Amino acid sequence: MPHLDERLEHIYNDVTRRNAGEAEFHQAVREVLESLGRVVAKRPVYAEDALIERICEPERQIIFRVPWTDDKGKVHINRGFRVQFNSALGPYKGGLRFHPSVNVGIIKFLGFEQTFKNALTGLPIGGGKGGSDFNPRDRSDAEVMRFCQSFMTELSRHLGEYTDVPAGDIGVGAREIGYMFGHYKRLTNRYEAGVLTGKGLFYGGSRARKEATGYGNTYFVERMLATRGHSFDGKKVVVSGSGNVAIYTIEKVQSFGGVVIACSDSGGYVVDENGIDLNLVQEIKEVRRGRISEYARLKGKGSHYIEKGSIWDVPCEVAMPSATQNELTGRDARTLVKNGLIALGEGANMPCTPDAVKLFQEAGILFAPGKAANAGGVATSALEMQQNASRDSWTFEQTEARLAQIMRNIHDDCASTAEEYGAPGDYVLGANITGFVRVAEAMRAFGVI
Ligand code: GLU
Repeated sequence: MPHLDERLEHIYNDVTRRNAGEAEFHQAVREVLESLGRVVAKRPVYAEDALIERICEPERQIIFRVPWTDDKGKVHINRGFRVQFNSALGPYKGGLRFHPSVNVGIIKFLGFEQTFKNALTGLPIGGGKGGSDFNPRDRSDAEVMRFCQSFMTELSRHLGEYTDVPAGDIGVGAREIGYMFGHYKRLTNRYEAGVLTGKGLFYGGSRARKEATGYGNTYFVERMLATRGHSFDGKKVVVSGSGNVAIYTIEKVQSFGGVVIACSDSGGYVVDENGIDLNLVQEIKEVRRGRISEYARLKGKGSHYIEKGSIWDVPCEVAMPSATQNELTGRDARTLVKNGLIALGEGANMPCTPDAVKLFQEAGILFAPGKAANAGGVATSALEMQQNASRDSWTFEQTEARLAQIMRNIHDDCASTAEEYGAPGDYVLGANITGFVRVAEAMRAFGVI
């Protein structure tokens, strides 16, 4: 592990001691602290008044019981979480994840990342994250509805358009947001549209929100490629995952002339040398809620499915990991570099392990960290909040144009910060420092809170 500035070492040690066993949270904090050495050297004021320690400590953590009844009448218990990480820049904002792997450490890492990501958007949103270890896979709509209602019964006490505004993440899409919004409305007797984002288009959702994370990552990578005179046109691209982020990454990359040759789910990956057939992926994943293994069977010629294995063994020039944290390891990074990778944009949150990131940077690969590259989703959530607050609804074109502009700004802000701090082209450093300084300046203005 790279050395930490001596002013920061004790902060990391305290975080690991006070949050024992929360490996992902430690990893996310460490990565930011590694970037902050240059900041405290240049502007020691940021190391004063335990400012960085305060930023590493969530403002509030809520853990609750979620009882629900399945279709056979059996009662189940899950655990619900909401970590309200930082409200210096606006109401807590960040998604809800429903996945069996969810625990407090995962939610804390996501909330921590979200705080800096949201700051990077330049919009007035703080950072938070929540979810449950509930697994919606293979559950009926009625079961998912009962779970969402039980989850919202407790969560509703902690939300509000000026307080905390959740959205989706892994396992939480339009269906779940619909059930949760309906229940919140009923519990509070208020049509408070701005309390959740990612809503359906018929009841206050924003156009382009569904597409925004994947589109945003593609815009970011296109601009990053341009710094070296490249574009997506004609490039071989691998996109891991096949959920919301992956699907709209594939769509945008294809519209920019890139050839996406592989995508995946937790069971394995599919390669289609002719280019992934997006309609088929959508039919399998969005309509039937099926498995990606069905792709090769339905498509036949030119495509094949590999169970388990690593999608990063597929040679490509651009990689866009869009599945989940730590899905791309040091071994995968070595393979990708050997196979001629030029650029990588993180569509998921923290999909590359620290040793993978180090390998990419040492090899001179253009590397876009998630908190910058995948900020388009939450940025468009903030645009949804704007539309709700003004009781307005924008066209797709208008919303996408705002998204594209925000992604250009994030790219350029990260690039110029990296340059200012003596590390041109280091988007990890640029993103961490830009996000940190925005949160830190607000907190300094507020005094010790
Ligand atoms: N879950 C998404 C993220 O990781 C979006 C959050 C939101 O829209 O609030 O950024």
